[in-house]
Amino acid sequence: MDSRIPDFYEETPERRREIITSRCLLSEEDSDALGEGPNSELMDSLSENVIGSISLPLSVATNFVIDGEDVLVPMAVEESSVVAAASYGAKLTRETGGFSTSVSGPYMLGQIQIRDISDPYSAKMRVLERADEIRSMANDQGVLVSHGGGCENVTARVVDTPRGPMVVVHLLVNVQDAMGANAVNTMAEAVAPLVEEETSGEAVLRVLSNLADHRVARARCTVTPDMLEREQSSLAGEEVRDRIVDAWAFAAGDPYRAATHNKGILNGMDALAVATMNDWRAIEAGAHAFAANDGYGPLSTYEIDTEGNLSCSIEVPVQVGTVGGATRSHPTASAAMEILDVESSDELVGIFGAVGLAENIASMRALADEGIQTGHMKLHAKNIARETDAPDELIEEIAARMVAEDDIRAGRARELAEELSQ
Ligand code: NAD
Repeated sequence: MDSRIPDFYEETPERRREIITSRCLLSEEDSDALGEGPNSELMDSLSENVIGSISLPLSVATNFVIDGEDVLVPMAVEESSVVAAASYGAKLTRETGGFSTSVSGPYMLGQIQIRDISDPYSAKMRVLERADEIRSMANDQGVLVSHGGGCENVTARVVDTPRGPMVVVHLLVNVQDAMGANAVNTMAEAVAPLVEEETSGEAVLRVLSNLADHRVARARCTVTPDMLEREQSSLAGEEVRDRIVDAWAFAAGDPYRAATHNKGILNGMDALAVATMNDWRAIEAGAHAFAANDGYGPLSTYEIDTEGNLSCSIEVPVQVGTVGGATRSHPTASAAMEILDVESSDELVGIFGAVGLAENIASMRALADEGIQTGHMKLHAKNIARETDAPDELIEEIAARMVAEDDIRAGRARELAEELSQ
């Protein structure tokens, strides 16, 4: 197979699909599956070299009360337990008022890297002397200012690198309701010549930083020990609470655990990002970089308040928009945004914080008690059943039998498929 396909990008999605079908010797069934998705014109406009689309389930997490308002949260994800966990985590907080959120503001950073400078410290000073000029040149680009945002501050640092010191200029940009990458990149490129002139160096990289530590979602909530108790468990709520705090302490002391702790948070945030067509790669990059600011650690915190309740909080950068990117051009994402009914990116950022925390509380509760596999595998049983060649009408039955037998494995699914097909 030859991966060189000249002018592939100029073809239509249908023609590209034919080319791939023939190059990869795909079956008719596989080829048809590639073309099954929605409106190929829309898909073609969202990416390059498009041959089809892949669908994800779009779900709605329930039970959220955020800053006193009930919120329904659209989530798109293929992992079966994510939506149930978010809804469950949110339910645990309802009787104590749900989530309170705050946001540090819609600020993103653009970076300009200057290299080949003989006097980096003086060059930095010279840049800062012209900060006002740089700021107004950034705002001359016509993006964001008309929406009430724009570049608000210019700072500069000398960064020690393996290739010697470099001057790095930061543009602090109020991106209002946009995620802001394109807007900030435009500004960084526009001001680079002025920065070059002043430093006598060479501006090479001119691009957004995804360490969005000026756009941080904060959310907190309280869970009573009663809510942590479950009929199926012998553990008292206080014991579950204490185990959760110890599980958090484990993550705070051990990056191997912290990575999974944070993955649980991002399970929920990414699913909301995909449902609203926000850039989940940016969220991931920002969250992990933020978590590593002072040695990699958990993004959320668990303590016990004076009344003996579990006090839960999170601080996480969230770089998302309610305009721009594909948020409004994809009709399903646009409808998901209508479900959320938010008025600004700040409001959306706060919801992301609450969703991350809810997701985390549910998995902490399960981990501290029965473990996550019981619930997860029940939800996963249908996926396993589907991997057999059993007809569709038997899938539910196979999954239910495996759950009842507490034996959820591919081998058992195949046995049941055979047994039930006879
Ligand atoms: P964009 O350029 O599509 O939209 C932003 C524009 O929307 C603004 O420039 C403004 O003109 C307009 N706008 C209308 N109403 C607005 C309002 N109320 N507030 C703010 N702006 C308003 O997108 P963007 O948000 O600048 O960039 C996001 C896209 O960039 C995403 O698709 C992302 O995947 C992509 N991207 C990301 C990175 C990265 O994360 N490193 C790098 C490059 C591109």
